[in-house]
Amino acid sequence: MKFKKTRLERTCSNCEGTIKKGDLYGQKSKSIPMMQTSWSIDRRPQEEIPDWAWEKVYISKTADWCKPCGEKEGVR
Ligand SMILES: [Zn+2]
Repeated sequence: MKFKKTRLERTCSNCEGTIKKGDLYGQKSKSIPMMQTSWSIDRRPQEEIPDWAWEKVYISKTADWCKPCGEKEGVR
């Protein structure tokens, strides 16, 4: 993991610690599972949505990591 200095305060997505201004941090993208339906929001039926209509999709999100966590992760 490459580290860079942050110019704003961030939260480490691994230990939930605060990464203060000027501290080094790394970034990593992770996939987050989300359930979605094939209907767009305004076309959704009013009644309960049946199970078959849901599908699991993964959205990719960039997470911030503090230096200690990032280094630990780099060892693995
Ligand atoms: Zn951390």
